[in-house]
Formats: sequence, C-alpha cells, structure tokens
Amino acid sequence: MTENPLGTFVRAVTFAAHKHRSQRRKDAVASPYINHPVGVANVLINEGGITDLAVLCAAILHDTVEDTETTADELITVFGSQVASIVLEVTDDKSLTKPARKQLQIEHAPHLSPEAKLVKLADKICNLRDMLASPPADWSADRKLAYFEWAAQVIAGVRGTHPDLEALFDELLARHAELR
Ligand code: NDP
Ligand code: ZN
Repeated sequence: MTENPLGTFVRAVTFAAHKHRSQRRKDAVASPYINHPVGVANVLINEGGITDLAVLCAAILHDTVEDTETTADELITVFGSQVASIVLEVTDDKSLTKPARKQLQIEHAPHLSPEAKLVKLADKICNLRDMLASPPADWSADRKLAYFEWAAQVIAGVRGTHPDLEALFDELLARHAELR
C-alpha cells in the first residue's frame, strides 16, 4: 500500500523527535531541539508554499545525521534514497574543524541540489530568527553578528532558488542592529 504523504511526514517528525529527544537548543531556556527542525519545515510549508514531500521530510530530518547517531543507511532504509540524499547534502563533516566546516558550507552552497538549497535557506532563516528572538545564552553581540555575516555568505550561494524566502532572509539580515 502506498503511504499517505501526511503519514510519511508525521513518521519523519516522530523519528526526528526520538533521535533528538535528549538534546536542547542553545537559548536561555534550553528549548527542546526538535522545535528547530519543526520550525524549518514550518517555514518551507507556511511561508515558502513548498509541498514537495521529500524536501519537507528532509527539513525535519536535516540535523539527525550531524547531531545524533543516525546513519545515512538508516535514513535510506526508513525514508528512501531521495530524502537521505538531501539530508546528507546539508550535513557537515564533523571530523573537520569548525572553521573548515564553516568555510565548506560557503563553498558547497552553490553546488547543492535545488531541494537541499531550500532546506539550507529555511534553516538559516530559522537560525537568524532565533539569534534575534532567543539567542544562545552566552553569546556576545559581536559573535551573533559574525554568525549573521557567515550565514549571508552561505545564502549568497543558494540565491535564485526561492525569491520569497530569500527576501525573508534579507529582511532578517537587515535587522542585525537589533542584536545585543
Ligand atoms: P555555532 O555553529 O557553534 O553555533 C551556531 C549554531 O547553533 C546554529 O547554526 C544552529 O545550528 C545552532 N543553534 C542552537 N541554538 C541556537 C539558537 N538559540 N539560536 C541560533 N542558533 C542556534 O556558531 P559559530 O561557531 O559559527 O559562531 C558564530 C561566529 O562567532 C563565527 O563566525 C565564529 O568565528 C565566531 N566565534 C566567536 C567566538 C567568541 O567567543 N567571540 C568563539 C567561537 C566562534 P543548527 O541549525 O545546525 O542547529
Ligand atoms: Zn538546523
């Protein structure tokens, strides 16, 4: 039997909620980590009008390989190769140093698939919103600003993918003066 698309989507939410169950975001109240992937999918659906199920499942799953013990093979088995490949495209190589990972995100962005570019765009929109509204507890304004500048460099490489979401990103970028 072919699975109902909503059934597949909720299965991805359930899988990610389980994988991230003991993790927290870096904001002052240590919000549950799953709020972030759910937020990324919410931006794509309700602000970007995206209905592509593979993109939406990949959004929900986008940090599972990078931040939990989830493997690529597991994602292929449970969600198929298309979803797995989008997630892997947006997964940093954690064996590299942080500066190297940051630099590679900038260099890889133009070469991502259109589907991975959408996830990348929504991910950075959510992180800029969080930097403005519920930032990492111990970050200086300069560090948050450095994050904005780096995110702008990454997103420069995905432009031409979704003008409305790019405009949304630019509006957030323009609010950098509110960082404190
Ligand atoms: P990190 O990559 O360590 O942290 C940012 C990431 O944390 C986001 O991309 C997001 O990733 C995740 N995250 C979790 N909670 C939140 C939240 N509440 N709000 C936003 N993001 C959250 O940051 P960087 O190392 O890139 O630091 C930013 C800049 O600061 C860099 O340019 C770096 O050079 C500089 N820096 C400054 C230091 C200082 O002390 N001044 C020290 C180290 C770096 P995800 O979506 O994947 O969860
Ligand atoms: Zn993320």
